[in-house]
Amino acid sequence: MSRSNVGCQTIGCRVASCKYHSDGHICTLDRIEVEPMPGGNTGTPADESLCGSYRKC
Ligand code: SF4
Repeated sequence: MSRSNVGCQTIGCRVASCKYHSDGHICTLDRIEVEPMPGGNTGTPADESLCGSYRKC
């Protein structure tokens, strides 16, 4: 993805338990922070790329 898309992205997300989730599988935030699981370092995608902006509904 090119830098020209910064600030113009749409974040698709299926995490319905998050307060920022909206119908149509959309995240309503302009920006999220993707973080690895603390102490993970497993190389498994689910451990290495968690949404750090998640907040419970
Ligand atoms: S903050 Fe993260 S988990 Fe929540 S809707 Fe947005 S992308 Fe999904």
